[in-house]
Order: sequence, then structure tokens, then C-alpha cells
Amino acid sequence: MKKLLPTSTAGSLPKPVWLAQPETLWSPWKLEGDALVEGKQDALRVSLQEQLQAGIDIVSDGEQTRQHFVTTFIEHLSGVDFENRKTVKIRNRYDASVPVVVDAVSRTRPVFVEDARFLRQQTNQPIKWALPGPMTMVDTLFDDHYQSREKLAWEFAKILNQEARELEAAGVDIIQFDEPAFNVFFDEVNDWGIAALEKAVEGLQCETAVHICYGYGIKANTDWKQTLGSEWRQYEEIFPKLQRSSLDIVSLECQNSRVPMDLIELIRGKKVMVGAIDVASNQIETPEEVANTLRKALQFVDADKLYPSTNCGMAPLSRQVARGKLQALSDGAAILRAELAGSELALLV
Ligand SMILES: [Zn+2]
Repeated sequence: MKKLLPTSTAGSLPKPVWLAQPETLWSPWKLEGDALVEGKQDALRVSLQEQLQAGIDIVSDGEQTRQHFVTTFIEHLSGVDFENRKTVKIRNRYDASVPVVVDAVSRTRPVFVEDARFLRQQTNQPIKWALPGPMTMVDTLFDDHYQSREKLAWEFAKILNQEARELEAAGVDIIQFDEPAFNVFFDEVNDWGIAALEKAVEGLQCETAVHICYGYGIKANTDWKQTLGSEWRQYEEIFPKLQRSSLDIVSLECQNSRVPMDLIELIRGKKVMVGAIDVASNQIETPEEVANTLRKALQFVDADKLYPSTNCGMAPLSRQVARGKLQALSDGAAILRAELAGSELALLV
């Protein structure tokens, strides 16, 4: 991107009330059949429009065509039984009834490629598409076939690579992999998590990103955050290896989090999507608050590599709050852009 400090969101945005129950994760669709297909496309149009109106530079589908960022992708694969579920602990945090891997996993058809093509037709802005990361996928399932998290992640990485190559061909500029599990299983991240991610991006010419956050603003996550102490140093465990990886962009949670900002120094050289919007609060940030967070981040990331963003997806928020936060992000980035332009002028005179 040529524009300095290009803004984007980490992922999901709220769905319209006629498509799914608002402010709810895994909300069931309110439409069926052809009406659902059309309804999802209309929601994608509206979501795109709201991003453009707020002045967001790198736009997305707002994840309007999926129920959940991990589950919807897995639903399209063969080898996974969604009927006979088992209970597991997700990210060592909360129990969930999950689908079971019963056979070799494979992608029998493209998952989001048509949706990405549709988004591409609607805008000339750069577009970013989010996929779940291999480790986070593994962590959402009970594995009765491979009996190895690493092996299953490797198979998912191959599948994700097939999907990513087709998304790239459909005109996606940045493909992002969501890996909240990277904040939990440090040893596995270093043993095989980053390697699996690199397998997923193999051969891609477009830019690639990994999003690592502390989760949606739901109770299980906010309760967990209370146990993490005064400084959240999770990123420190994985950044050195990530810095040496082939991924172009790292998307992080910063606003209102207890992550020491100087940890960003450990990924110097990467582009950094700095979360300057808290998705776990209905309080809309002021543009100055956003600018402050970005200003702090600028100590550890070069200005041409700083991408203002949100901490995570905004699906569970009300549409009004999400719109306000998009605008704050855009206005906050504009404040800092003006400051940077000013200091450049000062250097010239
Ligand atoms: Zn997230």
C-alpha cells in the first residue's frame, strides 16, 4: 500500500438483523436456500459500504457469509463428523461440544472463493481475506483419526494452501490466518505451529498475515484475561520465530490490553497491524486515543510498516458501536498521518 498508515479491521463485523441474531456468536441464519445466498451477498455489500464510508483503506467481507471464523471453514471439509460431537477444552479455557475428525481431511470444493470474487467485483480498494490458522483449527476439534495435533495441523495447512491460492487468483490482496491459539500453546507454536503456517502460505505472491489476539470480547475470554497478571508477555514466546518466518504482516491486540508495547520490537522488519480498537468494550474510542496507541507503537515499528487495525473481530458488538469504532480508527490514523507529514516537512526546511 502506498498510503501511509492504511487502516483495516482484524476480521468480522456485525451482521444485519435480518440475516442473523445480532450481538451473538454462532448466531443461526434467519434465511434459507436462495434467500440466504442473496441475503449474505446483500449483507456483504452493506458491510463493505460501512467500511468505505468510515474511510477504511483495506476492506474485507466483514465475514458476513460465515457463522463462525473457524467452524464455517471446517464444515466445508470432508473427514469431519459434525453430528456426533465430543466435548473438549478450547484454548485451555472453556468447554465446547466440537465436531470429530473421523477420517482423512480434505477440501472437496472451494470454501470462500466465490464470496471473495463477489467482494472483488464490488470495490477497487485492496481487500483482505481471513482464514483460520492450522493450529486454531486443530484446537476446535476432537481428533479421532490422526491422533496427533501436529499431523492434523499439517493436513489443514495443505488444505488452507489450496484455498489461499484460489483466493489469490480471485484478486485478494492480503490473506490473513487467524491464530489465537498461538497465544496459548507456545511450545507447539515453536515446534510446528509456525512451520504449518508457512506451509499454508507456500507459493503465494500476495501478502500474508497472521492475526494473534486474546479473543473476542466474550465472557470466557475476558475472565481468562483477568488471570494473566499485570503484564501480558505471551507474544514474547513466539515473536522471535515469527520474525524469521515468511509471513509479511503480524496483526496484534494492543488497545486497552496489558501487552507491553516494546514486545513489537521483536518482530522488527514485519508489517504490524496494531490493534487500536478494543473489541471487548462498547465504549467508542476517541480519535485521540487511537492516535495515542499508534504513536506508542511507532517507537517499535517503522511508519511505513504500521497498519492501524482493531484488536479482533467486532461480530459480537452492536452495529452502531462497530460503526463508531471504524470511524474512530480512521480518524485516529488521520491524526497521526498528519503529524508524520508535518515532521517530514520540518526535516525538509
Ligand atoms: Zn482475534
